[in-house]
Amino acid sequence: MVAVATNPVSRETVELGSPLPPPLATRTIVVANQKGGVGKTTTAVNIASALARGGLRVLLMDLDPQGNASTALGIEHRTGVPGSYEVLLQQTPIAEVAQRSPEAENLFVVPATIDLAAAEIELVPQVAREQRLKKSVRRFLDAEPVDYVIFDCPPSLGLLTLNALVAASEILIPIQCEYYALEGVTQLMRTIQLVREELNPDLELSTVLLTMFDARTKLSSQVGEEVRNHFPEQTLLTLIPRSVRLSEAPSYGTTVLGYDPRSVGAKAYLKAASEIARRGAGLDGYSARRGRSA
Ligand code: ADP
Ligand code: MG
Repeated sequence: MVAVATNPVSRETVELGSPLPPPLATRTIVVANQKGGVGKTTTAVNIASALARGGLRVLLMDLDPQGNASTALGIEHRTGVPGSYEVLLQQTPIAEVAQRSPEAENLFVVPATIDLAAAEIELVPQVAREQRLKKSVRRFLDAEPVDYVIFDCPPSLGLLTLNALVAASEILIPIQCEYYALEGVTQLMRTIQLVREELNPDLELSTVLLTMFDARTKLSSQVGEEVRNHFPEQTLLTLIPRSVRLSEAPSYGTTVLGYDPRSVGAKAYLKAASEIARRGAGLDGYSARRGRSA
């Protein structure tokens, strides 16, 4: 069922640079899945770039010590460059460490350096250790009300991811279309529930994105169907196909939108970003923030 290929959204093309509707209020979205290699970073950077190229003001915070999102957005992140570590541990204001990405005029990035690996441990004895990012983000937004704040997380449910889950009001889970796709998601859902109960009652799973979809395999379709049955409201109609261009782009310090805007990967992320923006603007029958049918 769920004949995704026949859905009009997957046929229509979203032009690079055509304006996207702003959200009703700033959206803070954490891209999370404790599984590595499912497309978190690829999703975070391409969605951020697509939204910014659509005219929206976007801040991306790289919270993975690997700094892959920083690399993909053309941002320097060698040791010594101030970024997420300084925000979390030294309370350096976000505005002081954010850099403009060459991707788009409206795209700002807080880089992650390898120092951030130590933050996971150094945060443990800190007062209100789960709330530090939330405070920084609030302070930033008071002065700079951007449209979107997107957090790229490491593949774990440690204090870095936890800080993002407390700072954000929405979660976007990329799910790779492969065996056991939903296995890790069950654990993530338990964590989300705990965070909602103890630390951030506003947190909602608003968006699920199917990644690395391979139309030639039955498995991809089966996984896609299973995920849609689980998250019927949250799963975007757009699927991200497997595309070599998507994996090549980061080595050029750009997203696929900069590297090969005509590729299937670029088109898919443009469509996904358009769906996200339209939902956030209360269009397509979705309520503003919760990803639920209005
Ligand atoms: P994560 O951040 O969850 O660890 P990444 O976004 O870094 O995952 O993706 C893991 C690897 O898969 C990277 O090498 C990336 O370039 C590649 N990749 C991600 N999405 C796709 C896709 N749709 N098609 C092909 N390769 C992809
Ligand atoms: Mg990553």
